Amino acid sequence: MKITLRPDADPQQVQQLERQLMGLGLRVHRVPAAGDRVLCAIAGGEPVAMNRLRDLPGVATVEALPHEFKLASRALCPTQTRIRIGELELGGEEVLLMAGPCAVESEEQVFQVARRVHAAGARVLRGGAFKPRTSPYSFQGLGVAGLKILRAAADELGMAVVSEIMDVSQLDDCMRYVDILQVGARNVQNFTLLQALGRVDRPVLLKRGLASTMDEWLMSAEYVMSGGNHRVLICERGIRTHGSYTRNTLDLSAVPVARELTHLPILVDPSHATGVRSMVGPMALAAVAAGADGLLIEVHPMPDVALCDGKQSLYPDQFDQLAAQLRAVAAAVGRRIAAGPTQNESRVDTPGVGS
Ligand code: PEP
Ligand code: MN
Repeated sequence: MKITLRPDADPQQVQQLERQLMGLGLRVHRVPAAGDRVLCAIAGGEPVAMNRLRDLPGVATVEALPHEFKLASRALCPTQTRIRIGELELGGEEVLLMAGPCAVESEEQVFQVARRVHAAGARVLRGGAFKPRTSPYSFQGLGVAGLKILRAAADELGMAVVSEIMDVSQLDDCMRYVDILQVGARNVQNFTLLQALGRVDRPVLLKRGLASTMDEWLMSAEYVMSGGNHRVLICERGIRTHGSYTRNTLDLSAVPVARELTHLPILVDPSHATGVRSMVGPMALAAVAAGADGLLIEVHPMPDVALCDGKQSLYPDQFDQLAAQLRAVAAAVGRRIAAGPTQNESRVDTPGVGS
């Protein structure tokens, strides 16, 4: 239930109300994105009659919430959540570009690509150090050594780092080096991991599962949020269908659907969604047109020899061209993409993105 507090309810009254609600067997959460003027009360066992709550001191209104996800729902919090990551903000006017290699392979590879994507306007450096590979014989990632490389490259350029955590045992290391903890498509229903991420103070990027419904995906967000961590961003990365010309099928409608259902920022990963380099650009442009708050894009200095996902990785030149096109699309839908350090913010040129 959504409990809106009376404007004159003072902090003491709110605490008293929280205790009363808990006494009725309800779990009570404050809603930071609603300026803490809203409480979310969730019945664990027996339902509690709304009328009983309406009469409690400090309460203005009580409304039922229509979905199983509560804290993640726009019904609870109509205001769009903006997530601060250092100097960056996700969910605001700016569309954030997050780019880098699929996997961290070496210092040279990461620094090379980081400098290029940063110069093109990317604000967040991506790269997997713990890689969830289908085959146990494929490159599994450099582990902590990879995290250190990402951190060093990002620090040199003033970027943030997003990297995947696969298991709770990696949490301490990830907390040391990573700004946005990514939960991959294969792990988005690893509830033990989600619960652990609910207890940390660090943004969490939740990929959509290989076959997640929208409700399942948002329930994963709910796991993290119900633990107390409200800084969750969700990322559409394609789902399994019968299509065979792309690795997955980008469910672009997930962007406006999620926009209606949740107040959390929404990202799109056109790289894993398509699996094909020539299709990454068009889908990235479409994602920004559809209202995405950010993009996660794989770029490699030498995709042909990449240890992971080379076929879907852009060459740095292609990323440059794409970034310019993205700026034009962003402007057309009332958004903005930061310019790179050597670019003129107001420049809009739209060269073609070759494959
Ligand atoms: C990734 O972004 O590196 C990744 C493995 O993506 P996904 O979990 O979407 O497959
Ligand atoms: Mn990849």
